[in-house]
Amino acid sequence: MLDLLVRNAQVRGTAGLTDLGVRDGLFVPIEQDARETIDVAGRLVTPPLVEPHIHLDAVLTVGQPRPNVSGSLFEGIAVWSERVKDLTVEDVKTRVRQVLRWQLANGVQHVRSHVDICDPSLTAVRALVEVREEARGQVDLQLVAFPQLGILSFDGGRELMREAVELGADVVGGIPHYELTREDGVESVQFSFALAEEFGLRVDIHCDETDDDHSRFVEVMAAETIRRNMSGRVTASHTTAMHSYNAAYAYRLVNNIKRAGLHMVTNPLDNAVLQGRFDTGPIRRGHTRVKQLQEAGVNVCIGHDSVMDPWYPLGFGDPVQAAFVFVHLGHYSGDDELRRLLDMVTVNPALALGLPNYGIAEGNPADFVVFDAPTDVDAIRLGSRRHLVVRAGRVVARTEPAQTTVTWDGDEQPVTFLRG
Ligand SMILES: [Zn+2]
Repeated sequence: MLDLLVRNAQVRGTAGLTDLGVRDGLFVPIEQDARETIDVAGRLVTPPLVEPHIHLDAVLTVGQPRPNVSGSLFEGIAVWSERVKDLTVEDVKTRVRQVLRWQLANGVQHVRSHVDICDPSLTAVRALVEVREEARGQVDLQLVAFPQLGILSFDGGRELMREAVELGADVVGGIPHYELTREDGVESVQFSFALAEEFGLRVDIHCDETDDDHSRFVEVMAAETIRRNMSGRVTASHTTAMHSYNAAYAYRLVNNIKRAGLHMVTNPLDNAVLQGRFDTGPIRRGHTRVKQLQEAGVNVCIGHDSVMDPWYPLGFGDPVQAAFVFVHLGHYSGDDELRRLLDMVTVNPALALGLPNYGIAEGNPADFVVFDAPTDVDAIRLGSRRHLVVRAGRVVARTEPAQTTVTWDGDEQPVTFLRG
């Protein structure tokens, strides 16, 4: 007998409706007897959403201790540096727990969070390590030791990076374009790779998050990955400068990214508002070269980056909202592109994070999401709520479908926003 039978699922990437069987928390072959049956009535069913890039330590701090009036990256960093002085473990944990619950309600079951280590007490790292244990089995967290103010440029940066790793960071970060010189930037990337190699960790570096076309540290990441044989274990995040490189350099770089097996994360929400700030017109989109990377066979993911913090005042932790904005920033509105889009918040980041046994297949954990929409494109177009979020065969979040009516010619009629 099954524990759960899910009927009439429009499983993403599968033609027609299918049923799903669950026993002992795993997907198993269908049987007719089940303790519980849920008819999802043709709704889209996907594997869990995967958030490859967020800054949980800063969530919900918008306006603290003061608002970011200009909205720029640099004022955001200045505001955050003030807020860091007030961090306590309890303050961080309370905010992180709240956003993790939002993410889970949005179908996110795996999260990679950068955590600022430019704080001699490492308060945020200590708090996140505790929350990671608390949340295990509901939302799985990977923590990146992230030097917001630089590794070489911040007093004690190297030691704090090492201490964060010893406290339990899963991934080593970096921010080479923020270091004092080009040479320091190169050295910081080499430092991060050496630290990761020493502890057997992955690398995820904030790289070239600027409109400066002379910011060229992704090439250093590709070279380090190739030389240290770390293909598949390294992610370059943001890489917005790539949009401004000349075509010949970009061509060479994309080939080297492919050769190195780097994963790439684009963050359309934050970068739509943070980049192009020094342009007087035309204003660049401040975005990386997603299509060119994908044409070369590179794995590209979409990240959310910020939720109500000094850099981005909006958001509620929903990767589908980030994907919707990406469609516009990235000119990703072609028919095939819209159908592939959800890959960038599911299977692609699952690959970047190295998640084992991910996906709707017999023998894998019965983790999945039921959208209140029949297709991928409808889910993106409507920003559809997640009707059910299921972890190991148990419903862990539920949103009742909205019911809307209009009165038309005196007659109250339902409206679904779906084409007939
Ligand atoms: Zn970031």
